[in-house]
Amino acid sequence: MRTRQTISEPICFEGIGIHSGKPAKITLTPRCSGGIRFIKDNVEIPADYRFADASLRSISLIKDNLHIMVVEHLLAALWICQISDLLIDVQGEEIPALDGSAMPFVEKIHQTTRKELGKVWERESVMHPIRVTRDESEIIYFPDSSESLIATVILSYPEPGIDDEVETLNLYSPDLSTELAPARTFAFCSWIEQLKQRQLIQGGSLNNAVVFDEQGKLLNEQGFRMGRECSRHKLLDLIGDMMLYPRRLTGRIISYKPGHALDLKFLRILAKETGNE
Ligand SMILES: [Zn+2]
Repeated sequence: MRTRQTISEPICFEGIGIHSGKPAKITLTPRCSGGIRFIKDNVEIPADYRFADASLRSISLIKDNLHIMVVEHLLAALWICQISDLLIDVQGEEIPALDGSAMPFVEKIHQTTRKELGKVWERESVMHPIRVTRDESEIIYFPDSSESLIATVILSYPEPGIDDEVETLNLYSPDLSTELAPARTFAFCSWIEQLKQRQLIQGGSLNNAVVFDEQGKLLNEQGFRMGRECSRHKLLDLIGDMMLYPRRLTGRIISYKPGHALDLKFLRILAKETGNE
C-alpha cells in the first residue's frame, strides 16, 4: 500500500527546454493535498490526463491557452520517489530537459526528506481487461490481485538501431531509481530534420538524448547507460503518463509500439470504464 507524500523543502531545477531550446526553470514546493499541480503565470494546471495533450511527441498540459511542455520525465521521477502532492512553479515554456532522463530529478529529490501525509494513495479497482489501439500501437491491460503493476513494452521501428526490444518491469519496484530513472530519451537521425522543421527538439543534443545514425550506429561516444535503455525509457514515459491518473493502477499491462498518445487514450478509457471520468 502506497502512502501519499510530499517533499519537506523547495527544490529548483534549471536547464534548457528540449523543444524550445530556451532556458527553463522550475521550483518544486511542498503541498499537503491537491495532488501534483503546475503553476505558471498565476494559472494552476493539475497533472491530469484531462488537461494533457500528446501531439508534440511528449506530454503538454494545457489550460486557458497556457501550455507547459514535456512534463513526463519529471512526473516519472515523482512516481519513482513516491511524491503524490506538490506544487511545481514553471518559468519558461517547458520542464528542463536536463540529461533526457529522470535521473537528475530523482537524485535531487532523494537528497531531501519526504513528509508522509498520513493518507493512502487510492488504488484503482478494475474488474476486466482493457484493450486500446491507436494506428499500429496497442495496449492490453488486465487486472490481478497483486499490489504490483507489471508492465511489458515491445518496441518495433523500421529504422535500424533498436531491434525489436522487449522489457518487463514491476512499476512499483523499489529499485526504479536505478532500473528506470537513468534511461534517456532517444531519436533516429532520420527523425531529427523533420522534428526541427516543426520547431521541436531545438534544444536536443547528444547531452540529452540517445541518437542513432542512418546505419543504426549509436552516436553517443559513452554508449548506453544500461541494457535495453530505449525500452526502459519507454517504461519511464509510461509511469510519467500514469501520474496523470489520480489513482494507482495495479495489474498487468502490455504496450506494443508504446507512445504518449496511446497512453493518454488508455487513461481516458480506463477512467470511463471505472466511472472516474
Ligand atoms: Zn521520454
